[in-house]
Amino acid sequence: QSEEVTDLKEFARTRNIRYFMVSYTDLFGGQRAKLVPAQAISDMQREGAGFAGFATWLDLTPAHPDMLAVPDAASVIQLPWRPEVAWLASDCLMEGRSVAQAPRNTLKRLVAEAAKEGMRVKTGVEPEFFLVTPDGRQIADEYDTAAKSCYDQQAVMRRFDVIAEICDAMLDLGWQPYQNDHEDANGQFEMNWQYDDVLSTADKHSFFKFMVRSIAEKHGLRATFMPKPFQGLTGSGCHAHISVWDLGGGTNAFADKNMELGLSEKGKHFLGGIMKHASALAAITNPTVNSYKRINAPRTVSGATWAPNTVTWTGNNRTHMVRVPGPGRFELRLPDGAANPYLMQAVIIAAGLSGIRTKADPGPRSDIDMYMDGHTVTHGAKLPLNLLDALREFDEDTELKAAMGEDFSAAYIKLKQQEWNSYASHFTQWERDNTLDV
Ligand code: GLU
Ligand code: MG
Ligand code: MG
Repeated sequence: QSEEVTDLKEFARTRNIRYFMVSYTDLFGGQRAKLVPAQAISDMQREGAGFAGFATWLDLTPAHPDMLAVPDAASVIQLPWRPEVAWLASDCLMEGRSVAQAPRNTLKRLVAEAAKEGMRVKTGVEPEFFLVTPDGRQIADEYDTAAKSCYDQQAVMRRFDVIAEICDAMLDLGWQPYQNDHEDANGQFEMNWQYDDVLSTADKHSFFKFMVRSIAEKHGLRATFMPKPFQGLTGSGCHAHISVWDLGGGTNAFADKNMELGLSEKGKHFLGGIMKHASALAAITNPTVNSYKRINAPRTVSGATWAPNTVTWTGNNRTHMVRVPGPGRFELRLPDGAANPYLMQAVIIAAGLSGIRTKADPGPRSDIDMYMDGHTVTHGAKLPLNLLDALREFDEDTELKAAMGEDFSAAYIKLKQQEWNSYASHFTQWERDNTLDV
């Protein structure tokens, strides 16, 4: 579907689409939608589908007017597993104005900021996920018990029907998928497709999560992107590979073969911004209580977590927060499976632009094995230990909050603080086990 679609009614007619799913992404990364019959799509394309403000999870009250999700025709994707339906990402409006805190709107604003400075950000994402039983309690494949399960040939073949159905769908959609594997944890998989302009990658990333969940359900399984679903096994990351191009998209401004690791001066400054704001941006790239159990975990049974817990960067070494695997790009290994596809990209641009404007220095690279001594090396600042610390870091980072937008930042901190409060007041078995006899 590479041709740019503008007329949805016509698209429906030529493709036999009966329904459109007019979808938007809330502040928690949840996708909410209305199913609109194809006959009604032209009105929706003009005016938007209405959602009760309070129920949108965009920090609106019951007294707010309806939020209107106006579908972006260019984002349309016919569901490969249900071709009578097509999905659409939407922009969120209220009384004719853009809802500032809506994630896709926030990303579009940052893409425009970058464009003003002649920059076009391209990213690839690497979402990892587990296939579990429908109740979510166990790994679905009872044979998948190897202690060293990374790249397990037998285990990936046992899930061929699911993986190949998803990969075939990506091939048909023109996403150029190029590899699928069994990851480091039992029941865990990763599927990769070609990087693209940041908004397009975010739309694909959203759709990918919807598609993986749907196709897994079709096969009697449940897919989860939860950052750390099982204690003792590695968690699910969602690495971002980042490069910045000229507006025409022809020249990679991060590539410079005369510089260390092939990363240009501009790339170094962008990276400097990521390093400077890392602990604050973690509140967005690692948005849940559970996120911090991935990045602060002790070694797993396989010997490494493959997740960072220090603000450090390196060459081709997977034990740090940032890896420069080759010239012209770097990999941010911090984001996890719960990261909002739009907000994680928005905050990367926000931090990167700040780095470029201030000519930020990422500091010296570190080439040691960060898993040496478990995660106890006193080298490089530690990433936040929990969601509350991350939210405090974000709240104190006035520069990053301003770049993300004051309305967005206030709404985000408020809703996430509520999430933390709910967790903090939850009484656990651990407390009883460790406190009963004090
Ligand atoms: N699952 C690891 C993480 O939590 C990443 C493994 C990899 O390098 O692909 O980030
Ligand atoms: Mg991986
Ligand atoms: Mg990776």
